[in-house]
Amino acid sequence: MTIDAGTKIVGLIGHPILHSFSPFIHNTAFEIAGLNYKYVAFDVLSENLKDALRGIVALGIKGVNVTIPHKEAVIEILDDVSPEARIVGAVNTIVNENGILIGHNTDVYGFTESLKKYKNLISNTPVFIFGAGGSARAVIYSLITNFQPERIVIANRNISRAEGLARYFSQVLGYKDFEVKEFFLPEIAGDIKSSRLIINTTPIGMYPNVNDLPIQSDEILHEGQIVYDLVYNPPTTKFLKFARRNGAEVISGIEMLILQASKSFELWTAKEMPITEVKKLLLRKLRAKKEK
Ligand code: NAP
Repeated sequence: MTIDAGTKIVGLIGHPILHSFSPFIHNTAFEIAGLNYKYVAFDVLSENLKDALRGIVALGIKGVNVTIPHKEAVIEILDDVSPEARIVGAVNTIVNENGILIGHNTDVYGFTESLKKYKNLISNTPVFIFGAGGSARAVIYSLITNFQPERIVIANRNISRAEGLARYFSQVLGYKDFEVKEFFLPEIAGDIKSSRLIINTTPIGMYPNVNDLPIQSDEILHEGQIVYDLVYNPPTTKFLKFARRNGAEVISGIEMLILQASKSFELWTAKEMPITEVKKLLLRKLRAKKEK
């Protein structure tokens, strides 16, 4: 699709932005849906963040995704932020509503939607989370507000970061059933084994370190468990292959990636993203890249 005077521009602000899949996802979706929109990636340094937001308004850009390192910092600069994004403490989507910039967090939607079909299986059961970074915040918010976890165990290298998350969500959401552990296998094996849902929110196993795994001992993962890896490149990580071999059901980070994008798409265009087609083309692109 060519750009003409009527083309509506949306995009991404972050640094670095070169490896983002979002331009492919959205531009493919616009093309399939026949919408005259174009998604552009803008490399924005932290010192230019305020000016970049002014630029969005000045240039009439319809909205942007926000990625590392601006997801938290942007909150104080926006005109308004959704209650969800404020609690999570991160904005990944901005909508320009006639010059008023509103922040949203569509990672929460993406994670929640991708787990919906497992709701009966996971409600009132224990959940185990590797990692306590930005994505863990969206995951914990979604779990507490949608899935009634019996307990949430957070294992992180930096234990004080995990303690901070547990304390924060206890305060803001009144959820008290947290346990915090150091990311040290002998200590956490029992907690993983007794959890119904296990989620990797760390970048372990992400391209190019595709042979890394958060755990590799057998007899910890088993049938009846659901293992979710937020890493989406590769779409099926070594951790997911290992979990599947041990009898667990697995969910790829691609699910959350596409669904969070579909929510941003909807916020900007008021149209539904053609999710199935876009996902198929994204997976094809990723496979082609691997074969090169
Ligand atoms: P982040 O804020 O930087 O947090 C990273 C977390 O991983 C921290 O808890 C960190 O522990 C831990 N960690 C990093 N390297 C580790 C290692 N080698 N061993 C053990 N722990 C390690 O990152 P994020 O934004 O949460 O993103 C994490 C991953 O999720 C990335 O791969 C990202 O692509 C993916 N993600 C996917 C989606 C999706 O839509 N599928 C959405 C968001 C993020 P410390 O606190 O000890 O440093």
